[in-house]
Amino acid sequence: MAAPVKDMDAGEVAQRAERARAAQKVWLRYTMTQRVRAIRGLWASLARERERLVALVGEETGKPPAEFESMELAVAGLLLNHFTRSAHRVLQERAAALPWILLNKRAYVRRVPRGVVGLVTPWNMPFLIPLGDSVPALLAGNAVLLKPSEWTTRTALFLEERVRACGLLPEGLFQVCVGAGAVGAEVLKHVDMAVFTGSAATGRKVALAAAERLIPCVLELGGKHAMVVAPDAPLGRAVKAAVWGRFANSGQVCVGVERCLVHEDVYGEFCRRLEKETAALRPAPAASYDQDLGRIIFPAQLDVVERHLADAREKGARVVGGEVDRERLTVTPALVFDAKPEMQVMREETFGPVLPVMPVRRVEEALVIANAGRHGLAASVWTRDLDRGEEWGALLESGLVSVNDVLIHYAAGALPFGGMKGSGLGRRHGDQGLAMFTQEQSVVVHEWPADVPDPWWFPYSRLKARAMAWLSRFA
Ligand code: NAD
Repeated sequence: MAAPVKDMDAGEVAQRAERARAAQKVWLRYTMTQRVRAIRGLWASLARERERLVALVGEETGKPPAEFESMELAVAGLLLNHFTRSAHRVLQERAAALPWILLNKRAYVRRVPRGVVGLVTPWNMPFLIPLGDSVPALLAGNAVLLKPSEWTTRTALFLEERVRACGLLPEGLFQVCVGAGAVGAEVLKHVDMAVFTGSAATGRKVALAAAERLIPCVLELGGKHAMVVAPDAPLGRAVKAAVWGRFANSGQVCVGVERCLVHEDVYGEFCRRLEKETAALRPAPAASYDQDLGRIIFPAQLDVVERHLADAREKGARVVGGEVDRERLTVTPALVFDAKPEMQVMREETFGPVLPVMPVRRVEEALVIANAGRHGLAASVWTRDLDRGEEWGALLESGLVSVNDVLIHYAAGALPFGGMKGSGLGRRHGDQGLAMFTQEQSVVVHEWPADVPDPWWFPYSRLKARAMAWLSRFA
């Protein structure tokens, strides 16, 4: 199990920020083609050390190796491909049209890097989130200061080591500041933009710190994915999606299925199949490619799991599974049948292997329950009628909506990823996921006549004013 590391002191963070700023001045001069080549070279260098990385993440988080390779490594590769392919198009200069009275001038918009970007990241995807956000930030011409979770420091340091070892980026362009929350707060004092992924409580602190310094911040916070199952849902796929969507990464996924709202016509069958599929999941005493379940990465998350299960039992739910082993940091997958909206497990993010299931009389009732509360990250609807599914999807107050699918948006780099309501501010990925790491600079070039003042400058006169007013009507 990983232990939190000693906090880097404030002076060291400041020094790193200074080094990053100097490196960014060099990186700024690289053409986009050179940046793309460097980032692809970094990926090749990471791939060469793939086995070491898989073992390291396994030790640090207890993730099943197959799960780490498909959910983190493969998706990081997809994102890297997406961003390196779209960077030229998204970040290129673009001409701006001017009104005809300015026909002797030329205008365009260019994208200028923000400078040093601070990434503050959680423990659940210790490789994917830091790499996935560093790639667009770097391609856009920035330096990156990464403050990883104190529970997954070694994975972040591996990334820093590979950046150095590949020798393709200026020294100091990507650096890791290790430690707990106080180090994150320190990093925010030096950066020009913050991208935070984590809990809503910390997100609020980050937003306040960013407001204090007037720097932009993007917040990617928690969710409460509601899976709405209509009577005509493809039940086989829906049940397997619920099981994978909840128990992958032992439930420590922000877009993971946190609630199943199932139409009463299929509730019994859904529950029966769910219990059978869940019972088939394979934990493993030691890391193996045949292992389905890992462990809880952050020990305090077990308290949330236990609290939610106790509350659900007290309020009349039938709970299957949910045995906690505090020594090994494991929880057997827990199903909470006959859940009710007032239960904690239906309202607060559990972020653990607990899946509540609730019967509903109508899909519309499920949509109301799905939208209740402040979460708005992911939600899904399940039906064979895809048109109706899309109509229902449009009624969900979530940044990420799927019909008959789960946990898929992150892998599609062209899709903006983020939450509505209390689940976040801004979006990563998509074109704006690159553009946000720059500021637009609008440029006007007066071309001709070279040495003649414009007519609207001093001295003013009635004739000039009227002529301008008249001309602007045709502009
Ligand atoms: P957390 O908020 O406890 O910590 C996140 C990071 O913030 C850590 O690196 C932590 O050290 C740092 N931090 C703590 N206090 C800080 C402060 N005052 N200033 C700056 N940084 C500070 O979250 P966590 O427990 O690591 O992660 C779990 C949460 O992350 C869940 O709620 C989950 O839903 C969310 N999450 C969201 C997404 C998304 O994309 N929306 C993805 C993964 C996880």
